[in-house]
Amino acid sequence: MNKKIVSLTITLAVSIGLVYFISQDASDSLSEVSKEVVLADSVPEVIKEPKILYGMVVDSFQVAENSVKRNQSISDILLAYNVSHQQIFQLANKSKSVFDVRKIAANKKYTVIYQDDSLQSAKALVYEPNPEEYVVFNLLDSINVYIEKRPVNVEKRTISGTINTSLYEDMLDEGGTPELVDLVADMYGWQIDFTKIYPGDQFKVIYTERTIDGKSVGIEEIIGAELVHYKNSFLSVAFDQGQGIDYFDEEGKSLRKAFLRYPVKFTRISSRYSPKRYHPVQKRYKAHLGTDYAAPTGTPIYAAGDGVITKALYEKFNGRNVKIRHNATFSTQYLHMSRIASGIKPGQKVKQGQLIGYVGSTGLASGPHLCYRFWKNGRQVDALKVDLPPSEPIHEDKLAAFMRYKDYVKFQLDQIPYKTDDKEVLLASAH
Ligand SMILES: [Zn+2]
Repeated sequence: MNKKIVSLTITLAVSIGLVYFISQDASDSLSEVSKEVVLADSVPEVIKEPKILYGMVVDSFQVAENSVKRNQSISDILLAYNVSHQQIFQLANKSKSVFDVRKIAANKKYTVIYQDDSLQSAKALVYEPNPEEYVVFNLLDSINVYIEKRPVNVEKRTISGTINTSLYEDMLDEGGTPELVDLVADMYGWQIDFTKIYPGDQFKVIYTERTIDGKSVGIEEIIGAELVHYKNSFLSVAFDQGQGIDYFDEEGKSLRKAFLRYPVKFTRISSRYSPKRYHPVQKRYKAHLGTDYAAPTGTPIYAAGDGVITKALYEKFNGRNVKIRHNATFSTQYLHMSRIASGIKPGQKVKQGQLIGYVGSTGLASGPHLCYRFWKNGRQVDALKVDLPPSEPIHEDKLAAFMRYKDYVKFQLDQIPYKTDDKEVLLASAH
């Protein structure tokens, strides 16, 4: 009936001291009983394992599992199980220092342990805010509320494989989780365009995973990874040089690249990004989804970051303009150029700081300026406010330590064979 019921042996349960012996029989004590009493009371012919759920013996009760509905409160749940308003009030009060009952959220799991009679009175409500802990609202003889944490293991794991379909599908095939794929894709966002996979692209990742009863409840951290993309190998080593974990390459450079703070030497910012502004040429209110840098005609404009040109053309309103795709997340666009630099055309790769054009006032512009547009995940954002990843390399004083650690991570990565069709050959050659 209840397939998720947790069943442990008596010995185990008693030894971890979690047994609350609960009996339907009113003459029995509802408090903790010792192992001896349990055994003495039970019929010795067949020793039946008690069903223990959330540290409570539930054999003589019914168990209903459910998930919180939208706008459902703890009262809504308990009133249906013959719990009075007064009891609920007491319970909410007792809960204050433990768990704010108003924080129960839709779709989270809860379990009601109730008396198997016509009244179906709740004896306990267990709410699970996350897979790592649960809140017990105990309604047995005296009302009490407590949080139990499940023992979480942090296990080191490795995963490897060939990307045949997509990083997502192939990593999941090898036992990865969507969270792990996201972390890896984010980490390599500047090096690899995961929408363009070449035959033979491969991945190896060393990471730690949080597990409960052998089931993954989340990724703790990535330790290191190697991606082979179009025959190039990309190493990533997680390292904390004092400002939190960042990922670094073979030489200690951050995998995340910064943008140039300003793509042009400007005299002033003549108009900021704003969802609404008075347009000087069109003489009406209009959103301005860029930052205007006023500068004399002919001032050089530089690519804000490495990337590929996706647009380089003349348009009626934007004038001569260039758009660069930096990675799956970021693109930038440069408007009103007097001239586009030679060689800048769609498909062309550019480096950060490379000359791409010159300030002008082509298209709809009141004077010479660069209108700089910044795109994040296909939407325009304020270039001056966008939260850009840090990109500091390993500092000189930490470089030796990093290099030693990197070698250690690399050594571990080298021990992981790539899972390919000739897996046996790789395994054999490792010896
Ligand atoms: Zn503008």
